[in-house]
Amino acid sequence: MTERKVRVRFAPSPTGPLHIGGVRTALYNYLFAKQNGGDLILRIEDTDSNRFVPGAENYIIEALNWLGIKFDEGVGMGGKYAPYRQSERRDIYKKYVNELLDAGKAYIAFDTPEELEAKRAEVANFQYDASTRLSMRNSLVLSKDEVEKLISDGTQYVVRFKIEPNEDIIVHDLIRGEVKINSSILDDKVLYKSADELPTYHLANIVDDHLMEVSHVIRGEEWLPSAPLHVLLYRAFNWQAPEFAHLPLLLKPDGNGKLSKRDGDRLGFPVFPLEWVDPKTGAISSGYRESGYLPEAVVNFLALLGWNPGNDQEIMSMDELVKLFSLERCSRSGAKFDYEKGKWFNHKYIQTTDDEILTNQFISELKEKGIEAEHDYVKAIVALMKERISFVKELWGQTSYFFVAPDTYEEKALKKRWKEETPAQLKELITVLESIDDFSSENSEKIVLGWIADKGYHLGNVMNAFRLTVVGDCKGPHMFDITALIGKEETICRINKAIERLA
Ligand code: GLU
Repeated sequence: MTERKVRVRFAPSPTGPLHIGGVRTALYNYLFAKQNGGDLILRIEDTDSNRFVPGAENYIIEALNWLGIKFDEGVGMGGKYAPYRQSERRDIYKKYVNELLDAGKAYIAFDTPEELEAKRAEVANFQYDASTRLSMRNSLVLSKDEVEKLISDGTQYVVRFKIEPNEDIIVHDLIRGEVKINSSILDDKVLYKSADELPTYHLANIVDDHLMEVSHVIRGEEWLPSAPLHVLLYRAFNWQAPEFAHLPLLLKPDGNGKLSKRDGDRLGFPVFPLEWVDPKTGAISSGYRESGYLPEAVVNFLALLGWNPGNDQEIMSMDELVKLFSLERCSRSGAKFDYEKGKWFNHKYIQTTDDEILTNQFISELKEKGIEAEHDYVKAIVALMKERISFVKELWGQTSYFFVAPDTYEEKALKKRWKEETPAQLKELITVLESIDDFSSENSEKIVLGWIADKGYHLGNVMNAFRLTVVGDCKGPHMFDITALIGKEETICRINKAIERLA
């Protein structure tokens, strides 16, 4: 076999939103292409008109764009092998269907759905293959004239691949090694349907992979059963087959089945990259983008579902992944979809995201809540709090007291910390705070703690009561970081208000 330039493709069918497993397939193709200085093609496999869903193609393009998975050729960007949408390539496929027919490697079959149904009822485990094809209504049985007459009368037909029985077919898979099956278990697959003048997935897929000079077919494990048939088709055309690599399934977070949309609904996590609104029912499925994930985090998370770098490194940028990725290190067994780990990745990526970006996101969220705040003030809060969050949308729950004074005080803490002497001590604290000119965190801490020590007050009680008046709870970052941000006036105002309300 000759060494070929690396050319890989992502070939989704626009039958709905792109599942997260499909995103991983696209990602691995991208990493493999970039690593080898090769090309990545986006081909839309839309020959099954019954399953076509409007909006799905745009969704796929938008999702991959968001994630930074860039294509060199394909739908939306054109290229040397255009068109890349299979529904626009009918004439090309027709030519190859005819080539197989002329060579006697395929035949025309007229069996109606009813006839096939009757046959299935009559013969147990009926399969349209070498053992049955001569008892069916097809061009192997009918005369040339009869076939021509039927076609010119407008009778619908399909073209079937004539599979020779009892042959070992070997698929060389870069992840799984040699996969061997016997051709007798295959049926004479339909390659073309006159009804819509379109080829089926199998024919269009291999014709395009050949014409587009695809060197490696990297796709999900669910396509492994099709691979032997594809090998036979390459052989029938005398074409060099691409290398195959079938990626492991993504498994449910709990249990062993394949990850499904229902798992996401049941356990509360997205299985789609972007939010999807079903065009028929209007039903909304959540997406990683709308749930507040950063694209870099999703990429890093997905990269490790079915592959590992051979050590325990977990945080890897797209560029690092391009360097480190290898098909040999992809696992054969399914990868459990650990969405908690996905959150962990987002937490990590939030830490390295510029505060300015997070600030702008948080400001628009604040605006939706009707809160106007100074940019620099919000930015300081973001800097102080980002280590505690995994999503920007968690900020509000953890920082609302920076924007609105508490109007309730957490009861348990109150019982524990609000003593008889507390109001008097807090009044003294107000006097202390009033005297501070430099209200920075360090300076006010020094002065307030000095005062508590001088007076011999109970540090925990005073500080927690103080915190309750300002925050409403005993949670939050360093107390004097909070007061430095909200300022002297607001701090004193909150203490006064609490003393009054708790009297
Ligand atoms: N159209 C198939 C899909 O939707 C492509 C399978 C392949 O990559 O060969 O995944």
